[in-house]
Amino acid sequence: MIKHHPTFELLKSFVDGELPASLSAGIAIHADMCAVCQHQIAQLTEQVAEASFEFEEAFLDRFIVDSNDDIEDMPVINFDQMIDDITASNALTETVVKTEKQISFNEQSYTLPNALHNMDLGRTTHIGKLSRARIQLDENEIHTSLLHIQPGGGVPEHTHKGFELTLLLDGSFEDENGQYVKGDFIMLNGDHQHHPISPEGCLCYTVANDALHFTQGINKLLNPIGSFIY
Ligand SMILES: [Zn+2]
Repeated sequence: MIKHHPTFELLKSFVDGELPASLSAGIAIHADMCAVCQHQIAQLTEQVAEASFEFEEAFLDRFIVDSNDDIEDMPVINFDQMIDDITASNALTETVVKTEKQISFNEQSYTLPNALHNMDLGRTTHIGKLSRARIQLDENEIHTSLLHIQPGGGVPEHTHKGFELTLLLDGSFEDENGQYVKGDFIMLNGDHQHHPISPEGCLCYTVANDALHFTQGINKLLNPIGSFIY
């Protein structure tokens, strides 16, 4: 069962269209798998639509009062245009593409989430049991990837200066804080230190805005992995 969800603030920013494409896709993917967040998003979206409608109404009221004296000069209000404007909000338009797109890591094939169908994938690189395919979003210091861990693999204990989103697309992994399953949305910042391992293997969608910093002994020498995963 999914236990880790985006915060309310993140969902709100998602609905308001304020998130970078990488995080926005992460929330869309999670919501596809999580009825709780789907419901929350639907409610927030409704509120945004209502607020924008109330704004239009308040605007019209004021306009009508102001022009009360010469009704005949009043321009015709284009209601079709008004509805178009309201529904043009990013929060409401979601193009659903129904073609399945697959990706393979180590001869295992996965179906990509809908939100990633139209994104370009870079070539896959490997270090040990880790494989990474970069998602080309051109968001400067924000890097987005698909990270595959073979059974028994893991990432050495590390911390971040920025944030790190790990969204489990398939399989499971665990760290000091517990076990994570498909759909879990795990957002960490520089205060967290962790050492994820995946006994059964997993595929994750990751977004980070800073290289990983290894915190223990020999792992400090493994900085190429840091930029590999970031
Ligand atoms: Zn959720």
